[in-house]
Amino acid sequence: MGQFAVIGLGRFGAAASTELIKLGHSVLGVDLDSKTANKYADTLTHVVIADVTDRHALEELDLGSYDMVLVAIGAELQACLLCVVHLKSLGVNNIWVKAISHAQHLILGKLGVTRIIHPEQEMGIRVAQLLSYPMVTDYISLGNGEFVVEIDISEKMDNTRVKTLLEGLEQDIHVLLVKSKATVTVGPEGDFVLSSNDIIVLLGQLAALRAVARKLA
Ligand code: ATP
Repeated sequence: MGQFAVIGLGRFGAAASTELIKLGHSVLGVDLDSKTANKYADTLTHVVIADVTDRHALEELDLGSYDMVLVAIGAELQACLLCVVHLKSLGVNNIWVKAISHAQHLILGKLGVTRIIHPEQEMGIRVAQLLSYPMVTDYISLGNGEFVVEIDISEKMDNTRVKTLLEGLEQDIHVLLVKSKATVTVGPEGDFVLSSNDIIVLLGQLAALRAVARKLA
C-alpha cells in the first residue's frame, strides 16, 4: 500500500485520489476550499483544509514522508508554482504536477518535478489512438515503443488459432493471455483456438501490434 498526497481536489485531483483509494492506497487530500475538502472527508484517508501557498501550512503536513505528492491545481498558476517551490524546499522528492499550459510546463520543467501531466492532451491522444484501432479496448505504454494492448476478438476471427494471428510478423509479439467468458488462459499455446468475444492481451512493439490490428479489423 502506498501513501499518497493529492493537493487540489478539483475534478482531476478528486478522480485521481478516489481511484488511488479504490486501488488500496492511503490518500491525504488537501484543498483550500472547505466545501470541496469536506466533500471527500468520508472517501479519502485524511482530508486537510489548507492553503498550499503557505510554506508553514505545508510543513505541518509532513509531505516528505509520502511516496508521492500530486499537485492538481491547474487554473491557479501562481498557487501551483509556489506550492511546488515549497515542496522542493521541504525536501519532497517525488512530485507529480498537473499542467494546463505550455508556460506552466516550461516553468515546472525548470523546477525539476518528477512528472508533468497534461490530462486533456494525454486523454486526447489516447482517444485518437483508440478510435483509429477500435478493436483495441485498452492499452498501456511501457516506453521505447513497447505496448500491452487488450483486443476484442471479432466474429471474423472466430475459430482462428493464435499462431495464425501471429503468422508473418517481422517482430515478436507475446500473447500474455486470452480471456473467454468464464476462463482466463495465461500464455496460450499457438494451437489455442480463439472465439468471437474473447479478449486477447498482447505485448510487443507498436509496429508489430499494428500489423496484428490490421488482421483483426
Ligand atoms: P479541474 O481539475 O476541476 O479541471 P482545475 O485544473 O481548473 O480543476 P483549479 O480549479 O485551479 O483546478 O483547482 C483545483 C482545486 O485546487 C480546487 O478545488 C481549488 O480549491 C484548489 N486550490 C486552488 N488553490 C489552492 C491553494 N492555494 N491551496 C490549496 N488548494 C487550492
